[in-house]
Amino acid sequence: ATMPPLLAAIANAGRHGVLVKSAVVMEQLGATTQIAIDKTGTLTRGIPHLAEIRLLENTQFTYDEVLTIAASAEHPSEHPLAAAVVSAARAAELTLTPVDTFTATAGLGVTATIDGRQVQIGAPAALLTEDNGHDQAAQTAVTELQQAGATAVVVLIDSEPTAILGIVDQLRPEAPVTVQRLTQLTGTPPVLLTGDNATTAAQVAAAVGITSIHAELLPDGKVAAVRDLQAAGERVTAVGDGINDAPALAAAQAGIAMGGAGSDLTLQTADAIVVRDDLTTIPTVIALSRQVRRVVA
Ligand code: ADP
Ligand code: MG
Repeated sequence: ATMPPLLAAIANAGRHGVLVKSAVVMEQLGATTQIAIDKTGTLTRGIPHLAEIRLLENTQFTYDEVLTIAASAEHPSEHPLAAAVVSAARAAELTLTPVDTFTATAGLGVTATIDGRQVQIGAPAALLTEDNGHDQAAQTAVTELQQAGATAVVVLIDSEPTAILGIVDQLRPEAPVTVQRLTQLTGTPPVLLTGDNATTAAQVAAAVGITSIHAELLPDGKVAAVRDLQAAGERVTAVGDGINDAPALAAAQAGIAMGGAGSDLTLQTADAIVVRDDLTTIPTVIALSRQVRRVVA
């Protein structure tokens, strides 16, 4: 007996490194008219490294102290930026302190208490606010690091801007060709949806051939961007890796999660999972689904 074409396509997708969860999803993928794609961990490797620590003037802390405190606060986080800070502390052979309390806010950062100190680490827009008078020196360091292509992360200790971390993530080598193939398949370049800042987002977009960018999005903002595309008549396939992408993957007609370091919730929410560490599997699977549609039709 021969397998029904959609099931054969699912098996074929599996051989190419994409786990497609159902026949309905396999069909949806072929109907995609617009891709919405995440940046960090999706177009980029998601293995960022800490390239620079800018200590702010007037701080009482040394580099090693800031790195120890920041890495201790980030240690419980599953975010790739957190991993960069923790690895840098490990490489410097610093000893981390366990946190007393810890909360992570998707798309924003972390808050922890360590040895009676409150530590906040995360997005400049969230942490450089009226509360600290939009600290001018901190803002300047953020802008300089962003213009150099880094993601700037702010460290507040007891509400005081203490340091800015410059974290650098490499583009996946296959990202440009993937975007090119997706553009050919849908007739329009993917839309970039990122929680990161507009400067870094624009650099990555330019490197891969994306022209439509939505930056500094919280998870709900990614959902809103997907819904706007749908309201304009698009059939959206959303691609992402992080916990902050899960709602957008659920809102899209099809959601694809990057396996590997992808968050558990995102893997559960997704309709398909890229299990091979290769983005080109995504256009391959969409093309496979299109072939089935042609056979069935
Ligand atoms: P993306 O959508 O590109 O994958 P995220 O939504 O995961 O990016 O993160 C958006 C921003 O939130 C980051 O650029 C960073 O400023 C901040 N952020 C989130 N989690 C953390 C963390 N654990 N440590 C530091 N910054 C964080
Ligand atoms: Mg991501």
